[in-house]
Amino acid sequence: MCLFAHIAAGALVGAHAPSPYWAPLLGMGSHVALDIVPHYDFESVNLQLMLGIVMLAIVAAANGLDLSILLGSLFAALPDFENLLWRKGIITDERKVFPGHAGIIPHGRETGPENVLLQVAFSILVVIYLVRRSS
Ligand SMILES: [Zn+2]
Repeated sequence: MCLFAHIAAGALVGAHAPSPYWAPLLGMGSHVALDIVPHYDFESVNLQLMLGIVMLAIVAAANGLDLSILLGSLFAALPDFENLLWRKGIITDERKVFPGHAGIIPHGRETGPENVLLQVAFSILVVIYLVRRSS
């Protein structure tokens, strides 16, 4: 799944975390769940990072810096750091440790780029939800 969609999902589960202590675990759990779903990922690391940073800023602006939401978002994004290192050639595929990347949990099949529209729609709905929830 694209980084921005992971951040949106992490924000959503963070918003429902019983306390900020749970948000990192729920955020990482959301990453596993989304990686199982068939999806499309941008090849460009720079595009992924740029859209991820934009999404993180939108999430932060939408919820008034709620700690659980921010922790959920950041920890939902964190597992893709190893994908970044892998795509940059810094680590090999075998060095990946996150269950959804290392083959311990199956990774969803690759779909066409039109799947990004679903990820954008999902992310917009999450932002609308966060804005309505905080007002
Ligand atoms: Zn992933």
